[in-house]
This record gives sequence, C-alpha cells and structure tokens, in this order.
Amino acid sequence: MTTIEGIKYEIEKAKDIVIMAHENPDGDAIGSSLAMYLVLKKMNKKVDVIFPEFPSTFDFLPGASEVKADGKVEPYDLAITVDVTGPNRLNGYRKYFEDANTKIQIDHHESNEMFADYNFVDPASPACAQTLIFVIEQLGVEIDKQIGTCLLTGIITDTGGFKYEGVSAETFEFASELLAKGVNVADVYKRVLQVKTRANFELRKISMDRMEFLCNNKIAFTYITAEDMENTKAAPGDHEGLVELGRDIEGVEVSIFLRPIENGFKASLRSNNYVNVSDLALLFNGGGHVRAAGCSLIGNIEQCKNRIIEAASKVIK
Ligand code: 5GP
Ligand code: MN
Repeated sequence: MTTIEGIKYEIEKAKDIVIMAHENPDGDAIGSSLAMYLVLKKMNKKVDVIFPEFPSTFDFLPGASEVKADGKVEPYDLAITVDVTGPNRLNGYRKYFEDANTKIQIDHHESNEMFADYNFVDPASPACAQTLIFVIEQLGVEIDKQIGTCLLTGIITDTGGFKYEGVSAETFEFASELLAKGVNVADVYKRVLQVKTRANFELRKISMDRMEFLCNNKIAFTYITAEDMENTKAAPGDHEGLVELGRDIEGVEVSIFLRPIENGFKASLRSNNYVNVSDLALLFNGGGHVRAAGCSLIGNIEQCKNRIIEAASKVIK
C-alpha cells in the first residue's frame, strides 16, 4: 500500500478522528485544518478539529465556529496533523496525537520529522493546503466553495499572496479553479493579508522603531516584549508579519524578530537569497522552511538576542 492508499484506508475505517495543527497557528495551519474537517464531514465521519487559540482574523472561514478548544477524554481512533513538523509543535495537544490508535500527518516542511504512521510530506509545496488538494482528490471528495475558501486561505497566507519561492504553475491553476467555483479570492485576500488589527499596527510601529541593522546591514533585528503585548492589548496572532518588516529592506539577508513566550522568546526567521534559516532554527531545536523558520529561546531579551545574532552572523557571507 502506498502512503496515500494507507491514508485513505485509515480514514475510511476510523470510528472517530481528531484534526490538529501547530501551536500559534497561521493561515495555512487553520485553512488546512478546516478544509480537512469539512472534507471528513462530507465523508460522514465523526470528527473534531481542535485549536488552543484561534486568531479572530480567521473566524469568517467555513467550519471556524465548530472549532473546539480541547479534544475528548478517551483516545481517538485516528489523529491527523496538518502543517506540523514534529510532535513538540503540538504542545498541549500532544497527548491526543500520541494516544490515538493511528496517526497520519500531512505537511510541507523541509525539516519534517516523519513522526506519524503515515507521513504525507511534500517539501516542494508552497503551502500545506496545496499538498492537501491531492489528498482530498484521492479521498474522492469534491472541493466545493467552502473547502476551497479554506484551502485558498492556506495558500494565500503561506505564499504571501502568490509571491514566494515555491509557488508553482499548479498553485495558479488551483487558484483559477477555485475562482471558477465561486470562491471570493479578493475577499479572502483582503481579510487574511491586507487588513491589520489595531494592535498589530501598534506593534509594527514599536518593531520599526527598535529595528537594528547588524553585520554590514545584512541582518535586521527587532523584538517586542510582554509589556508591549499588554500595552497594545495584543491577541494571539497580532505579531503576524512583523518579521517581514526587516526582510523587505534592501541589502538585508536575514530578518530576525523576537516575541515573548514563557521563559524566553520565540524567534521568527526570514531570509532573502542564500541563508537556510531552517538550518539556523534547527540549531535551537526549531525548524521550518529554507526562507522562513522559527525556534524558541530561553532567557531574557539580551541573552536571546545575542545567541540568535551570533548564530546568524556565522552564516552571513
Ligand atoms: P513563523 O516565523 O511565521 O512563526 O514561522 C515560520 C515557519 O517556521 C512556519 O512554517 C512555522 O511552521 C515554522 N516554525 C516556526 N517556529 C517553529 C519551531 O519552533 N519549530 C519548528 N519545527 N518549526 C517552526
Ligand atoms: Mn504551512
């Protein structure tokens, strides 16, 4: 049995299913999860989709109102993760994954740890949502307007609106098919990429003010603190896009953005031409893609800043 045949077989026989994505979910994690949820519903499966936090930007998506904050107590028959590199990215949800009889994962990260019974991973795909299209086709479910809206959200957010490396002819073909099915591309685009929360705007100002350029201006560094989060009344997801402020400045190769987490800071890393930030993140037990990755650092801002900048400096030419 091929992986995809195995996935189909397991889904068809599963008594109940739980779907989950990574902590601090982005548009691809959310869009892919909800698309899978709607697909399994269409197959008349008993299914839960769980998120510990759900950024309000994505409340408009079909299925969003059915998201649960937690799974059920007894183990699920089948657990499916989407857009997840490894079990430690599941944090509090790890138990649902580990307790399930069967484990499937669908992902597109280079640094994927191949941690499930069935691993359907395509690092060439620019979004997990694009990888999912093939899986959905194999399951024999038609991609309707609702499922399409969720998939398009994943593709649009992970490609920055069809502009990152990895966007293929297939990406555009799929977007074109969705348009024909009535998916409102302009509306999705505006909601997930254009409109910013007020807190995000305030955090942008702070991050810009604090931006430093190091290593001959090839590294852009900025951060926000817990105090900033409090002062701006920031909600989960309100730091989205801040790492891109530095990335988009001429001459910058690596952009580093730190935001507070328990015991330290979460680093978002982006590169433009030659630095593999996934490798950089792996030095700190993180991961991601060649041009976009992340990791968690323990310590105060000075300690975390010094450690990540020191590591980044070593790979700057
Ligand atoms: P972001 O900076 O937008 O949070 O994440 C960029 C990319 O890196 C995403 O694909 C995300 O899944 C991945 N990523 C972020 N943090 C981590 C981490 O701690 N571990 C791993 N394995 N991947 C991460
Ligand atoms: Mn993704």
